[in-house]
Amino acid sequence: MTSRRVTLTFDNGPVPGVTERVLDILGQARIRSTFFVIGRNLDKPGTVELMKSAHAAGHWIGNHTFSHTVALGDRPDCDYAVSEIEGAQARIGPFAQAEKLFRPYGNSGHLGPHLLSRAALDHLVVQNYRTIIWNNVPGDWRDPDGWVERCVAVALDEPWSVVVLHDIEGGCLACLPELLLRLEDLGVTFEQEFPDAVTLTRGGRIVNLPQGYVAD
Ligand SMILES: [Zn+2]
Repeated sequence: MTSRRVTLTFDNGPVPGVTERVLDILGQARIRSTFFVIGRNLDKPGTVELMKSAHAAGHWIGNHTFSHTVALGDRPDCDYAVSEIEGAQARIGPFAQAEKLFRPYGNSGHLGPHLLSRAALDHLVVQNYRTIIWNNVPGDWRDPDGWVERCVAVALDEPWSVVVLHDIEGGCLACLPELLLRLEDLGVTFEQEFPDAVTLTRGGRIVNLPQGYVAD
């Protein structure tokens, strides 16, 4: 047995044909998570309904930028930061948490100065976003055969692991049931909350911002 805690998150959706199946699997396992959605995905047919279903099932909906193309730290201008953050938030609309959740685009899960520009950080603080990063990126989208093992290894290593998975074609769906079984066998506790260790901003202030996560 272990006292490890695990928070699952699903990025880059909603994607019809995938997100509803992820929701089924999580529902059967009675696990609540957060879906960090891409704003422009919500302009596509059927995606708002998927966000609505996720919200109705008790999952949290977070903002994962409007376009998910150029990381905020790679474009310092204020207009870009505001349009990426608020363009997505407007589309999430009433399905947002009272405490708005935001996750920057990490360029394949990397943590570094590309995550945020100074303008983006200022906006997230002033607008009271809770900015959430991660500490377990097993690479579901690039390694369909190896990601479960890598995820379990990090989950054993971290007292509280915040896992980035993807509800996209070729993402976590095929092996998600296997991951849940493995983690359940290890006795981990599934959480919906996030530890301060992965919280960059919250409630109008910086919580835990390691050096080198903001482009200057
Ligand atoms: Zn992403």
